[in-house]
Amino acid sequence: MTSVLHRSLKATYPRAASGHGIHIRDTQGRDYIDASGGAAVSCLGHMHPDVLSAMRKQLEQLEYAHTGFFTTEVAEQLGDDLVAHAPEGMSHVYFVSGGSEAIEAALKMARQYFVEIGQPQRARFIARKQSYHGNTLGALAVGGNEWRRAQFEPLLVKTHHVSPPYAYRDRRADESDAEYGERLAQELEAMIAELGPETIIGFIAETVGGATAGALTAPEGYYRRVREICDRHGILLILDEVMCGMGRTGTLHACEQEGVTPDLMTIAKGMGGGYAPIGGVLVHEKIIDAFASGSGLFQHGHTYLGHPVACAASLAVQQVIRRDNLLENVRKQGTYLTQRLEARFGNHPHVGDIRGRGLFQAIELVADRSSKETFDPARKVHAQIKQEAMARGLICYPMGGTIDGIHGDHVLLAPPFIVTEADIDAIVERLGDAVDAVVG
Ligand SMILES: *Cc1c(COP(=O)(O)O)cnc(C)c1O
Repeated sequence: MTSVLHRSLKATYPRAASGHGIHIRDTQGRDYIDASGGAAVSCLGHMHPDVLSAMRKQLEQLEYAHTGFFTTEVAEQLGDDLVAHAPEGMSHVYFVSGGSEAIEAALKMARQYFVEIGQPQRARFIARKQSYHGNTLGALAVGGNEWRRAQFEPLLVKTHHVSPPYAYRDRRADESDAEYGERLAQELEAMIAELGPETIIGFIAETVGGATAGALTAPEGYYRRVREICDRHGILLILDEVMCGMGRTGTLHACEQEGVTPDLMTIAKGMGGGYAPIGGVLVHEKIIDAFASGSGLFQHGHTYLGHPVACAASLAVQQVIRRDNLLENVRKQGTYLTQRLEARFGNHPHVGDIRGRGLFQAIELVADRSSKETFDPARKVHAQIKQEAMARGLICYPMGGTIDGIHGDHVLLAPPFIVTEADIDAIVERLGDAVDAVVG
């Protein structure tokens, strides 16, 4: 019996009791390797002493002050830290309490920007299919996950969706990577032309696609073309790095590897590393300038913006990542993870693709490797793998509907930045056993 409305009314969840490093232990004494950091959240693992002590120190000084009355030392420090390491031209950060809130704020900022500069006719967003931007209504509206959207569709503002980069399924055999990227960019350009460039606020995309389709990376050059198209039509580029950002792919921001700077960038999951609910929107100075010379304010706000304990946690997370040179470890262990996944699943009859970047990788499951046919969605292969993995002491992040919200299964791995080779060996071994138990 429970009074908590859990995610599923049918499931019984083990009770998490304690954590240490990459491990979580439940009240039955079972130990799990947290190889997905929940949903790519726990970038430093659990109970990192330096983060806990920074949070304690803040708690002993001030637990809360409303941002309508005060700023705090710790929020200013975190702001300086994030802006100092943001792509050139991004001059401010707006603090919120999670990813969906970051997206809502970014959408409103983008709209307000055009009102401020005298282009109020811009009222639409273009996004990508098979994307995830959060579960609040604005975020759900731009998101491209059919299953998540379906029953709420009447409540969602109209958004237009183009294809995501998904080379495994969508790149034609006679097409180079660059040609495929160009075709995707042209699809965006055609959508803009069809809707009328002067009606569009922004194009929003996960720099590396996360939860919905599993670690989808873009072909080289795609984002530079997207940036160029957005600029030509005066459209804002909003990159959602809630999951793929803050070091996950081996650089602090995933867009650094794409050679583009967005106008707005959302961050969250790894920003607080699970120590406190926090998110943010990094804002380009051109938007700040428009606000400053216009109304002078961003018309938005929540009660818990810039919460001091959350800011202290996030600042400590950023400092530990730099002090311990953990992005280097993300790159090194990311390469090792790819090797181990290739070794274990490269010839697996039911693994069609291994993809991703840094410590953000996925395997896609197929019923048949040569036809790439998916498993019957009714089998819920992803849910079975999750269960078999947990039974083997492994937390990974399997999801169904990889291709279109219904068909396809994948498993996302997003281990903490502190993993070792031995940890990765154990993760891949347990995942292999779980996959074989279900489809072997
Ligand atoms: C998780 C996620 C969100 C939503 O974040 P919440 O903190 O769950 O609200 C938004 N965008 C992306 C890319 C995400 O992965």
